[in-house]
Amino acid sequence: MKQLPPDTVRLLSSSQVITSVVNVVKELMENSLDAGASSIDVKLENYGLDRIEVRDNGHGIKAVDTPVMAVRHFTSKICSHEDMEHLETYGFRGEALGSICAVAEVAVTTKTEDDDISTQYTLNFTGDILSQKPSHLGQGTTVSVLKLFKNLPVRRQYYSSTKKCKEELKKVQELLMAYAIIKPDLRLTLVHNKVNGFFPKPGADHSSTSSSTPDKTFIFVNNRPVQHKDIMKLLCHHYIAQYLDDPGRNRYPILMLKITVSPSSLDVNLTPDKTQVLLLNKEAVLAAVDALLVSFYGCQPSSDPPAEKD
Ligand code: ADP
Ligand code: MG
Repeated sequence: MKQLPPDTVRLLSSSQVITSVVNVVKELMENSLDAGASSIDVKLENYGLDRIEVRDNGHGIKAVDTPVMAVRHFTSKICSHEDMEHLETYGFRGEALGSICAVAEVAVTTKTEDDDISTQYTLNFTGDILSQKPSHLGQGTTVSVLKLFKNLPVRRQYYSSTKKCKEELKKVQELLMAYAIIKPDLRLTLVHNKVNGFFPKPGADHSSTSSSTPDKTFIFVNNRPVQHKDIMKLLCHHYIAQYLDDPGRNRYPILMLKITVSPSSLDVNLTPDKTQVLLLNKEAVLAAVDALLVSFYGCQPSSDPPAEKD
C-alpha cells in the first residue's frame, strides 16, 4: 500500500466539495453575505466555465489574513466546534476558497475600510499567494474563478454540453432569486457573457413582445440611447423572421441592446440631440450583433438585410 501524494489528496477532496458552476457561485455569494455585503454582482463567461466573478462591497479581507484566506481549514467564522451552537454565518469550514483553487485559477481582489487601495492576489493550486499587485477596486472583495475544472477534463466536458450549460445557468438564476427573496435589501446583479441585452424569447407571442412603434426597441451605444437604422433593421429581421406566416409583421421587438465600442471609433456629434451616431467599424459591429442574434434566435432562413450606406 502507498500513501497518496498530497496534491492528489487535495484534488480528490476538492473535487468533492466543488462540483458545479452553481456550487461555486453559491460559496462565493455566501462569503460575500458573511462579509456583510449589501451589493453583490455576479458575472459569468461561457456559462461560468471560463470565468465566474463575484464582486461585493463587504468588509474585505485584512492584509494579515490574506496569506491564509484560501488555505484549507482557515476560517474567520468559528474558532471551535462549540461556536456552531450560535453560528450566524453561512460558512464555517474554511473549505470553499481552498477547494476552488485546486480545480480552477483564482484571483482575489480585496480592500478593507482601513486600506488605502485594494490589492489583487493570484492564488496557486494549494491556495497560497502566487503574486500580488495594487488594484483600483473599491471596498469589498472580488473573487474571479477562471477555467473551472481545467484539471478535471471529464467534469469540464460534462458541464460543457449545451443542455448542461443552460441548466446550470438556470440554477444560478434560481439561486440569485432565492437570495433576493430572503434578503430584500440586497442589491444583486447577474451578467452572462457581457451580453448586454434582453431579447424576446424565440417564438414568444408577438402581441406581447413587439410594438407597432419603434420606441420600445432600446439601443444603447456606450450607454447613450441612440437610433440606428441598420441595427434596428437587423433586430427586426431576426425577430420577425420567426413569424414567417404571421399577419402581425411590420412590428418592432420590445428589447434592449447595449453596445460598447472604443470612444475613438464613435462619432456622437451628428445631431444636436446626439441620438444619431456614426460607428467607425459599422460592418464589424453589425456582424457582432448579427452573430449574437443568430446564437439567440438560431440561423435565419432568409438573407440578412443589406446595410445602408451612411
Ligand atoms: P468559510 O466561509 O467557511 O470561512 P471560505 O474558504 O469560503 O471558508 O473562506 C475563507 C475565509 O476567507 C473566510 O473565513 C473569510 O475570512 C475570507 N473570505 C472569503 N471570501 C470573502 C469575502 N467575499 N469577503 C470577506 N472575506 C472573505
Ligand atoms: Mg465560505
